[in-house]
Amino acid sequence: MPFYRRPLIPGEISAERWLSVLIPVGWLTGGITVLQFQEWLPWCILFRVTGIPCPACGGTRSTLALAHGHIGQAFYFNPAWTLLCLGSIAVWLWCAGTAWRRTPVLRYHANSKLGAWLPRAGVIAAVVLNWLWNCWREMAS
Ligand SMILES: [Zn+2]
Repeated sequence: MPFYRRPLIPGEISAERWLSVLIPVGWLTGGITVLQFQEWLPWCILFRVTGIPCPACGGTRSTLALAHGHIGQAFYFNPAWTLLCLGSIAVWLWCAGTAWRRTPVLRYHANSKLGAWLPRAGVIAAVVLNWLWNCWREMAS
């Protein structure tokens, strides 16, 4: 199995401890930025120049929808960003639980070339699918 659990090595920096602090900081700064400074956020340069959305287009509107509890609307504006935001809740719960209870940490070690490339291919596929969705959304609107 590429996933395994082990105790922290003495002196090792706990990624879980850092993430249990940084993820809520990201929620707060992202939420405050979108809710209070929305009109100051720059427009997407690619969309402005070409009329073609980038994979991140709709992220601000998606965050705004999430901040108001409109999850369906958030998915419509940017599905990958919405999944990332909602997934960050699960990651935070996992990291905070692991860090505070000092239980063994979860790590990934690829045993094969396929195991090393599968997560990367998944990220690339998610970005491409999200970009195609954004293109479709812009054509449909
Ligand atoms: Zn964009």
